[in-house]
Amino acid sequence: MPQNRPEAVVIIGSGVIGLTHALTAHEAGCKVTVIERNTRPLGASIRNFGTIWPIGLAFGPEREQALLGSKRWREVSKRIGFAADPCGSLSVAYRDEAWSVLCEFSAQQAAAEAGFELLSPDDAVRRYPLVNPVGLRGAVFSPHEICLRSADALTGLVHHLQSLGVDFEFETCAIKVHEDAVEVADGRVFKFDRCVIAAGEEMRILFPEQLAKASIRPCRLQMMRSEPFPQRLGAIMVSDLTLAHYPAFKECPSMTALQQSLDATASEFQEWGVHVIAAQHSDNSFTLGDSHEYGPDFTPEHWAHVDELVLKNLATFTRLPGLKIASNWQGVYLKSTVGKTQVVLQPRERVTMVTAMGGLGMTLSWGLAEQTVASWSLSSSPPALTL
Ligand SMILES: Cc1cc2nc3c(=O)[nH]c(=O)nc-3n(C[C@H](O)[C@H](O)[C@H](O)COP(=O)(O)OP(=O)(O)OC[C@H]3O[C@@H](n4cnc5c(N)ncnc54)[C@H](O)[C@@H]3O)c2cc1C
Repeated sequence: MPQNRPEAVVIIGSGVIGLTHALTAHEAGCKVTVIERNTRPLGASIRNFGTIWPIGLAFGPEREQALLGSKRWREVSKRIGFAADPCGSLSVAYRDEAWSVLCEFSAQQAAAEAGFELLSPDDAVRRYPLVNPVGLRGAVFSPHEICLRSADALTGLVHHLQSLGVDFEFETCAIKVHEDAVEVADGRVFKFDRCVIAAGEEMRILFPEQLAKASIRPCRLQMMRSEPFPQRLGAIMVSDLTLAHYPAFKECPSMTALQQSLDATASEFQEWGVHVIAAQHSDNSFTLGDSHEYGPDFTPEHWAHVDELVLKNLATFTRLPGLKIASNWQGVYLKSTVGKTQVVLQPRERVTMVTAMGGLGMTLSWGLAEQTVASWSLSSSPPALTL
């Protein structure tokens, strides 16, 4: 790149991965253009819970990446002016095996240093009166999780980036990525020094062969939003089923027993990959979900009985009488089949594809953006991700 002009970066996709890369590249002095086929972000990034979820990640580099995500969301929410509630999370246990997992998790030195609190049933219900006390064994509070309304956050980020001089080409579909230019459907080309492809579930259109070898598959999730509820839950809340879902708890010795217990007593939920997160927003509405159905593709049905399973499980750990559902929807993300929390490919020398962040893209994408942009100034080699 000549010394006298900023590096030209073209980003395909205005979801959270594209926008976090756009702001990070702009802050590093690049001239950024974002190409988005729709009029605004409409993919997984505005269909999620809006939870920033470090507690889902095992201690180590990925948790550090998630904590960086929390920090960045706090900063940008203040700067841009959208709500980001630092309410933390409460993991509640109803099975003995789930309680053992929480106790083992909290006993780690790193957990104590991270400010996790093990709560007795009485303490949990005193602090969080909407927790269901019946059968409660105990809970863990974690202070690091944040609750956003993702559509507000993404809209705010787009406006902020525009005010900084980042160009957005909406209603523009990228159809081919060449060595140094992106070709779009109306025939224009956008020249780049660096290109980031963050096209969400539609990644297959651009470099299908590389993706086919990357061990990833689509996952469809069913979600709901409630009408505002008169009381506050006080934290993002999850229970036994969710402990078995995220990598954080996998190393706990009692996880095998918990998994066996769930297989024996919760097969109706497991059949649809249902584990329930209750995330309450600043207007008191809840985002609730979810289920996990794996592709290659999906029929159009939205399954009423799956929504019922989510609400049935929600009632085992919360008391939200009269809660009314206002809307439901589906989201799709790509997920690694070999346990990676993100997949970074380099189909051409100056082209980076970032994908398959599964259910943690809101949490992890700031850290990934930082690593992608840092790798550019070092050499033309692929991002130095060791995850
Ligand atoms: C239901 C659900 C719940 C989730 N909950 C959470 C959560 O609580 N916390 C968390 O951390 N993560 C969560 N996630 C994961 C997170 O939402 C995703 O990992 C993340 O949104 C992926 O971001 P993305 O930018 O890759 O995709 P997207 O948001 O799908 O963005 C991709 C964009 O690229 C555009 N595009 C595609 N092809 C082209 C093209 N050829 N030309 C131009 N534009 C193109 C699309 O229109 C789209 O706007 C959840 C995901 C789902 C589906």
